[in-house]
Amino acid sequence: MDLGLKGRRAIVCAASKGLGAGCAMALAKEGVLVTITGRDPEILARTARAIAQETGGRVEIAPGDIATPEGRAAALATCPEPDILINNAGGPPPGDFRDWEREDWLRALDANMLAPIAMIKGVVDGMIDRRFGRIVNITSASVKSPIPNLGLSNGARAGLTGFVGGLARQVAKHNVTINNLLPGPFQTDRLGKTMADAAKKAGRTLEEEMAHRAQLNPTGRFGQPDEFGHACAFLCSAHAGYIVGQNLLLDGGAFTATMG
Ligand code: NAP
Repeated sequence: MDLGLKGRRAIVCAASKGLGAGCAMALAKEGVLVTITGRDPEILARTARAIAQETGGRVEIAPGDIATPEGRAAALATCPEPDILINNAGGPPPGDFRDWEREDWLRALDANMLAPIAMIKGVVDGMIDRRFGRIVNITSASVKSPIPNLGLSNGARAGLTGFVGGLARQVAKHNVTINNLLPGPFQTDRLGKTMADAAKKAGRTLEEEMAHRAQLNPTGRFGQPDEFGHACAFLCSAHAGYIVGQNLLLDGGAFTATMG
């Protein structure tokens, strides 16, 4: 299926590894000119080379922290008129809410709510003028089914989801869509970190915990970043203009409900 994206431009935030990198790779395979961001410039450049090598496409890098105004300015300076924006950032640390101070909450809100909103503000009017835009926010399955030790994530991402739910309906008439992708357990560095915390609590080794968790999923495994990337690329496609303001759970069926 041709997704109708050849020659489009995309900013994929926090894309030197994991789910962001999966999205950047999938978009580049569709002929999208991709700009990727990440804080470590060396890892970012390595990922850009790998994507360019595999797809033959052009990949730009914008090193920086997307949770800061400088990081966002770098992304927008490298790709001022994107047709596609994938919002992403590292997830907040696990813990007990009794230990979190205002600063901890502000860090989570900056990275997982206010940064994506600022990026949307930076690109959405241009998308409206050009009558094409696809914005996908990588949030978490925790928006739908809160994870007890990830309260910072549950809270910040729910805030983004509420905001986006309203905005998506205001811009859809201009062929600009905003949707959220909610990952369940995907095999990335982040998963390793959250599993390490869970393993410690359960008195298991990390390997035991990973095997146990994978078996609990209806698919018997964790998701892979390339699967996530392909779902993201479809949401960005020319054919997805009627998918508006949705929260699409990619979790191998882990959330049990008769319907969404
Ligand atoms: P990951 O493997 O740890 O990769 C995170 C990527 O984001 C890296 O490239 C990292 O590079 C970059 N990054 C992190 N913070 C950044 C920042 N402030 N500015 C710019 N780049 C930044 O994580 P992942 O598993 O792909 O997760 C992506 C998002 O999905 C996270 O918010 C995570 O909480 C959420 N999520 C993941 C899962 C899962 O199972 N994997 C499940 C639910 C939700 P640098 O460190 O060099 O900046």
